[in-house]
Amino acid sequence: MPCFSCGARQSDPIRGASPWKRGVRQEAQVLICPDCQRAHDLDLDTCSTCGSVALICRLGEVECRSCGAVRPARAGGQAAVSCAPGLADEVEAALNRVLGRVH
Ligand SMILES: [Zn+2]
Ligand SMILES: [Zn+2]
Repeated sequence: MPCFSCGARQSDPIRGASPWKRGVRQEAQVLICPDCQRAHDLDLDTCSTCGSVALICRLGEVECRSCGAVRPARAGGQAAVSCAPGLADEVEAALNRVLGRVH
């Protein structure tokens, strides 16, 4: 999953130690590269309770990782499709494993 803003890809993703951040933009889970995290015009969704951008988008809801507030996603079916945290990563990792064996 590339950076939603500049399209950069993680060169060496390390789970749990990546400087990349997850966020939610227009109720879709996005990744933000370290460079773009310094920008202030990312237009990320914010928590309506505490204003944090540390949100995670799950099926049908958006949870704040700062204060724990959960709100339903507005966009119904579309959000359910676009918000599958981890799924895209898992698919990409699986593809990489398969491709790695082939080559
Ligand atoms: Zn970026
Ligand atoms: Zn919050």
